[in-house]
Amino acid sequence: MKIAIIGTGISGLSMANLLKDNHKVVLFEKQDRYGGLVKCDIVDSVLFHKVGGHVFNSRNQDVLEWFWSHFNRDEEFIKVKRNSKIFFQNKIIGYPIENYIYNFDKETVTSIVKELTEHEENDKISPFEYPNFEEFLKSNFGETLYNLYFKPYNNKIWRTDLSTVPMQWLEGKLPMPNFQEIMVSNIVREEEDTMVHSSFFYPKKGGSQFIVDRLAQGLDIRTSKEIDRIVKENGKYTVDGESGFDKIVFCGDVRKMPDYMENIVSQKIDISRLKTLRSNGTSNLLCETDENDYSWLYIPEESTRAHRIIYTGNFAPSNNENRKRKTCVVEFSGKTDYEDMVQEIKKLPGNLSPIHYNYEPNSYVIQSFDTKELILETKDILEEENIYLLGRFAEWEYYNMDKCIESAMYLSEKM
Ligand SMILES: Cc1cc2nc3c(=O)[nH]c(=O)nc-3n(C[C@H](O)[C@H](O)[C@H](O)COP(=O)(O)OP(=O)(O)OC[C@H]3O[C@@H](n4cnc5c(N)ncnc54)[C@H](O)[C@@H]3O)c2cc1C
Repeated sequence: MKIAIIGTGISGLSMANLLKDNHKVVLFEKQDRYGGLVKCDIVDSVLFHKVGGHVFNSRNQDVLEWFWSHFNRDEEFIKVKRNSKIFFQNKIIGYPIENYIYNFDKETVTSIVKELTEHEENDKISPFEYPNFEEFLKSNFGETLYNLYFKPYNNKIWRTDLSTVPMQWLEGKLPMPNFQEIMVSNIVREEEDTMVHSSFFYPKKGGSQFIVDRLAQGLDIRTSKEIDRIVKENGKYTVDGESGFDKIVFCGDVRKMPDYMENIVSQKIDISRLKTLRSNGTSNLLCETDENDYSWLYIPEESTRAHRIIYTGNFAPSNNENRKRKTCVVEFSGKTDYEDMVQEIKKLPGNLSPIHYNYEPNSYVIQSFDTKELILETKDILEEENIYLLGRFAEWEYYNMDKCIESAMYLSEKM
């Protein structure tokens, strides 16, 4: 078959690699570079993750095997231990917060333990039976921890009413500690790096750009080609003037897709519902920082606008070559002006000084109660026409890179 892939993030590139041995594959990318959210720049000899701080791991053995068939794990990657912390009331405390409640004053600890005990005694429903994310957090961790940490932190990231977020999106994504585990962790004071899934892989050089550079090798990629029209003629598709495509894999933003399709299926797709899907952007400020050994620092309080610092300089020595101080990325949800970010970092630890910044308008997808059903319906309609949705913004899933690869593996089998 001749297959067009629209979008060259990790989803499109993985898919192309899965298909290329048996099919002719052409990729189209609207930007002047492949990579999507995973792209990195070099700024003043420092590696800058334009979005997030992209590290790799997976619980899926097939994904790991596929990934390591493209990379030499020992030669090309470093295994880094997670060391997450929380910046709270001007102190650095351990992560996750429920394992460190001994840091609070006696009155707060008493309320938290009382609420956790009540939950343990009364509430035996599974996480997915809660009506929404807000109710789940309140019930599982109690009102006190919810108000101190979970509410402000999640509000900062999602900038949305948590009672409108369904529980489905959490499936397989968050550990669900029980009362006994929380109490044991608080008494034993176990560090995060002794826990399961306590490490991740990171390229020795080039950050996540290294990953997409390798996956892009040998592919037919057409950059600076925004596909805004797909035409069907005699059962085949024409994309960007090139005809004869049997199938299309779309890895862009599903909200825009029906507009591109020249009446192919537009009457059948519920376009107005697709257009209501919500997303958030991210502003990243690359900074110099004082030395520490953290990987992430979560910043829940409302008094600061940043929600996380990613210590990318600690992931690989090559990330701050030729620089005296270490580097990190301070992450803000939504569009934040450079001057505002520079003011905000004064409230954070580490004597941060700015180097560069980036704003990405589309980074987080927000699911609503009908999102899964809507996407499934849309996929069914499109697949009858040999058009397939793949990736974070096409499937409207809170995917990490490994989940994009997993989804590409599933789709390539299906196709
Ligand atoms: C802040 C943050 C931190 C993250 N950290 C991690 C992490 O540490 N580890 C991890 O595994 N994952 C992480 N992720 C998730 C990861 O970024 C995504 O899972 C992954 O990058 C999504 O890839 P994708 O190909 O589906 O989408 P994208 O990367 O968005 O790629 C889509 C591509 O399609 C192109 N495109 C769109 N429309 C068109 C069109 N009409 N014509 C042509 N081209 C088009 C776009 O330009 C883009 O290049 C993080 C995400 C965020 C936001």
